[in-house]
Amino acid sequence: MKEDSPSAENMRGNSLVRDLPWLKPLLQTEFYRSCECKSSKQCNFYCRDCMGSPFCENCNNDPHKHEGHGSLQVYKSSSRPGIRIRGIKNLMDVSDIQPYLCNSFKLVYIHRKRKQEHESRINGRKGDKCEACGYELQCSTSKFCSIECKVNGVKDVEEETSTEEVHATATTRPTCQPLAQADPNSFRKRKRKGIPQRSPFL
Ligand SMILES: [Zn+2]
Ligand SMILES: [Zn+2]
Ligand SMILES: [Zn+2]
Repeated sequence: MKEDSPSAENMRGNSLVRDLPWLKPLLQTEFYRSCECKSSKQCNFYCRDCMGSPFCENCNNDPHKHEGHGSLQVYKSSSRPGIRIRGIKNLMDVSDIQPYLCNSFKLVYIHRKRKQEHESRINGRKGDKCEACGYELQCSTSKFCSIECKVNGVKDVEEETSTEEVHATATTRPTCQPLAQADPNSFRKRKRKGIPQRSPFL
């Protein structure tokens, strides 16, 4: 019972990193340190075009620095940097990453939690854990706890299965099937309302 949809097939790790060259540098970026411009503001912006160091609000508004560039704003939630879903969903598919509510808007975390932090929480029900790091997820439709885990997790799947599954699934791969295909077995048979009775007048 694989839930792999055709769209998930297209979002495998390699293509994710290949199509979005800014993604890996983003994962390695350390936010909230002081900015190179020496302002008092912390670095909570990242430029997808420059892919360099993070920068502060002043630098983001500076017309000589990143004008016309695609910058991403980072928000801190539970002392971890995250990105608003609204700001990133058009750039990459984050629908399978656990969303978190942070002041009335939803965000996804960039990084997974440190191991010690989440070890105590790895005792949830099976199937509700991040596929990459095992962190317990609050939302059963999510597969990953963070962008980092999506990048890592999806890539691992491909590496592990690329050699074994090629033969087994070559003919049965559901790449062209409709997304939401109803399973005929899942429909409950209609209950019969007792034995049909002949009309007493016949
Ligand atoms: Zn700055
Ligand atoms: Zn830039
Ligand atoms: Zn994870």
